[in-house]
Amino acid sequence: MAGKKFLYAPAPESRAILDLKSSYGLFIGGEFVDPTDGRTFKTVSPANEEVLAEVTDAGAADVDRAVQAARKAYDKTWSTMPARERGKYLYRIARIIQERARELAVLESLDNGKPIRESRDVDIPLVAAYFFYYAGWADKLQHAGFGPNPQPLGVAGQIIPWNFPLLMLAWKIAPALACGNTVVLKPAETTPLTALLFAEICQQADLPPGVVNIITGAGETGRALVEHPGIDKIAFTGSTEVGKMIARSTAGSKKKVTLELGGKAANIVFDDAPIDQAIEGIVNGIFFNQGHVCCAGSRLLVQESAHDAVIAGLKRRLGTLRVGDPLDKNTDVGAINSAEQLARIKELSAVGEEEGAERWSPPCELPDRGFWFAPTIFTGVSQAHRIAREEIFGPVLSVLTFRTPAEAVEKANNTPYGLSAGVWTDKGSLILWMANQLRAGVVWANTFNRFDPTSPFGGYKESGFGREGGRHGLEAYLATGNRGRDV
Ligand code: NDP
Repeated sequence: MAGKKFLYAPAPESRAILDLKSSYGLFIGGEFVDPTDGRTFKTVSPANEEVLAEVTDAGAADVDRAVQAARKAYDKTWSTMPARERGKYLYRIARIIQERARELAVLESLDNGKPIRESRDVDIPLVAAYFFYYAGWADKLQHAGFGPNPQPLGVAGQIIPWNFPLLMLAWKIAPALACGNTVVLKPAETTPLTALLFAEICQQADLPPGVVNIITGAGETGRALVEHPGIDKIAFTGSTEVGKMIARSTAGSKKKVTLELGGKAANIVFDDAPIDQAIEGIVNGIFFNQGHVCCAGSRLLVQESAHDAVIAGLKRRLGTLRVGDPLDKNTDVGAINSAEQLARIKELSAVGEEEGAERWSPPCELPDRGFWFAPTIFTGVSQAHRIAREEIFGPVLSVLTFRTPAEAVEKANNTPYGLSAGVWTDKGSLILWMANQLRAGVVWANTFNRFDPTSPFGGYKESGFGREGGRHGLEAYLATGNRGRDV
């Protein structure tokens, strides 16, 4: 048996649990309604380009209807309801999410392309955890440190990306509702389905009509939502480019704004780090969710003396990653979310080679249909290279080296972004020193990409402003005298 390799048999998760409809309307005022002008688009599975459902492309009139429904619910029901009652609805939603976790996980993997192992074990449990956590805050807001009688803002317009569709929904909706706001949420064009299933969960929970409204569409729908005069608060997660447009278009308005944008995080490995553990952390940092993670550890800064050992170990580990069917329980790396994103990853990777970095991928067979990209490492990367500066948002790692802690800090902070960073070392004092020097909203020590509802998350510089999660996340949805970036 020596040297014999066991093969994995396919272990596909069944789709039978899903009751997928062929088409979906907009969720406005507690009901699924037809759009005003009847425009639709199709959402596909990125793993094989199969059309999953037809979804509505909401126009400005639909956005207006949704905002009006949210305003009515805010004035008549939600803001006047005793806080503990609001909390009960959130607990109910959290429990239904747990009950329907498998269905949500299958649908998320199908529409997004992420491995079922991740949607089942990370995304959906966290979604429930965020609802539970903020349900607990609903009747304790006066103890949150924002004054004796904090008030909601009104109607929140929320725009989310495609990388963690349901988790980003939870980050947005749970604190907004706990604070007494009502919401109009727009999911990303390529991943609308779990938000629509969440709309069904709101119905199942008997949430009062209009408290949550879900409008599907593309960038234009998002723009109409941002510009709608009836909106009191905009919460956006997505690209820095669109974030800047939103900042410009809301400047000088009454709208409170929080922006969670891109990143180019440094994952810093010192030579005294437990190397095997660090390699797992590097893999988790950049190949989790195909690297479609705003806080991904996309720049590996490794101490020169440990470079060869880390790269050798990393290559060995990458050779064991299984790329393929997102619904297979053995899959580690799933499909790239869209043809556009795949084109961007390919383009920037080609630039990396042209600029002289050394490209490496493990041998792996990619499916013929769908959008796929093999896990990739670039070594010999310099700070001037585009792959060291721009967000690739894919399974591509750029490796740089350093000699001293000061050099590591300088290189790590040499970016317009500031969302996250990781430090791997045996020395607690070095971790604390580094954490103080790194200009990043989150600094992980001897771990990476860990999330918890009690912990705030957000960026510096071009990674945006405002915090989501934890007690800090409540501030974004309360009238505390702080109007976001205006102070
Ligand atoms: P976008 O910023 O375009 O998308 C984020 C959300 O904003 C989506 O719901 C999108 O709708 C919506 N949107 C698009 N244009 C506007 C607008 N003018 N006004 C209001 N809302 C708008 O990101 P992309 O999907 O285009 O991804 C591009 C790059 O952004 C990625 O390669 C990655 O680098 C980065 N990114 C970062 C994310 C993060 O978490 N920080 C998440 C996603 C992307 P629609 O999807 O329908 O276009």
